[in-house]
Amino acid sequence: MALRQSKSPLVLAEQFLVIQETAPVAAHREWLLRKGKNEWAHQMACLEFLYGNDTARAIQELALVKNKDPWTLERENYLTGLAHVQKSLVETKSDHFIVRTNEDQAFLAPQALSALETAYVQSAPFLGLPSRTPLLVEIYSSVEDYVTAAHTSRFDVETTGGVTCFRFGRILALSPGATAFGYRWIDRLVHEYVHGQVTRLTGANAPLWLQEGTARHLEGRGRLSGDYSLSSYDRTLLTRAALEGRVSLSSGSLSDGDWIALFPAVSCHAVEFLADEFGEDKGRDLLSAFRRVPDPFVTVLGINETEFEKRWLDSLSDLTETPTGGDRGAMGPSIFLTPAGDLELTKDPLRSLLVKGDQLLKQGAVPAAVMEYKKAVDLQPDNGVALVRLAQVYVKESKTDAARDLFIRAITHNLSYATPFVRLGELHYDEGRYEEAQTVLQEALEINPFDPKIHETLGLIAVDVGHFVLARQSLGLALKFDPTNGLLRESIENMPKPR
Ligand SMILES: [Zn+2]
Repeated sequence: MALRQSKSPLVLAEQFLVIQETAPVAAHREWLLRKGKNEWAHQMACLEFLYGNDTARAIQELALVKNKDPWTLERENYLTGLAHVQKSLVETKSDHFIVRTNEDQAFLAPQALSALETAYVQSAPFLGLPSRTPLLVEIYSSVEDYVTAAHTSRFDVETTGGVTCFRFGRILALSPGATAFGYRWIDRLVHEYVHGQVTRLTGANAPLWLQEGTARHLEGRGRLSGDYSLSSYDRTLLTRAALEGRVSLSSGSLSDGDWIALFPAVSCHAVEFLADEFGEDKGRDLLSAFRRVPDPFVTVLGINETEFEKRWLDSLSDLTETPTGGDRGAMGPSIFLTPAGDLELTKDPLRSLLVKGDQLLKQGAVPAAVMEYKKAVDLQPDNGVALVRLAQVYVKESKTDAARDLFIRAITHNLSYATPFVRLGELHYDEGRYEEAQTVLQEALEINPFDPKIHETLGLIAVDVGHFVLARQSLGLALKFDPTNGLLRESIENMPKPR
């Protein structure tokens, strides 16, 4: 009905498809056909195929539209680009998901599928099951391809760090291999999966903070190192903003940049408050009430959104009472689309200390270098780059206990920085602690699966325990990302040949 009366039926149809309601759109298309409005029917069908993940048929429908209005031209342009970037993808399947990657990145698929299947099971009590499976996940190896498929721009990706999204009924991601340091790509895939389900459940009517916070709340359920949601970095941001009285559930008077930085922490904390105060069941009821009642907050929680916000703001006094939020240098997620060194993750005055330490180390002045690195750690005790620098010297000096402590601190406070995970994995391996090494390296793969050291160490462990199939796989990947590594080539050649 609504579609027949709408002045912009294509926009409205897309709103239905976004929340996975296909029936009204199909009914409207049939009505258009009965009325002889074939061109409009083809446009509707194009959208249905786009959201049904059938690019080729979406294009065919538009080819049948003779009167190319701006909408048709724009869609044709997008779909042609999409078909082009999709052409080079290969598929890997599990029960409820299909992961598409470039052929040389297909090694990403098993890890993605296993995390998504876990999320499928774990979020079902909260969000219900998706109305349509298998769900499509596309991981693009270049920024250009991702931008084309996601219908976004490089500028947007750079300014917002938006390297994943749920769009046109699919999960889209930029491969961590297209970034300098990787990112929490496994978390992000699960995050987008939850977004898709929340949009369906709420009819896209819930406030943004509630949608984002729920995605954050659930993204870490299957994470190897367990469920945390507010990182040290987010906690610092939120505490500082709370002390300055700049916190609310909407952007308010904040600048775009400030809001983009603060929004994940705000939404995550507010949803955790909701779950703690009212229980997770109420949280779920609240989400599903957005499709049914005019004022879900009052109906489900007994208070309106403004009152909820007030109570949540009061709860922030827990954070500000003992403000550990002074900047201890914990690093947030930083997405670099061009190659960069780890010093680029730091700022002065910390960076100058590290640079000086690096120079001294190069000259062989180890104690002087340690002095500089210690100054850096004193200045920013939770900074991942500084902690790794100091720890690496301790490793060389065989002060393994001290090194291990620093790596663990670096990991705890810098969840999106793969290096301390990788280095701690190597240290565990050197000490013969294979299981601990594997655990920490598996988690490193959730951040930067293109780091050759991760695969190398996992491969060497596999060799030692006689698991040669796995060893060949891991060392092969290591060599692929580090082709000049002669030792690796040798270890592969010296392995017993598969029969
Ligand atoms: Zn989100």
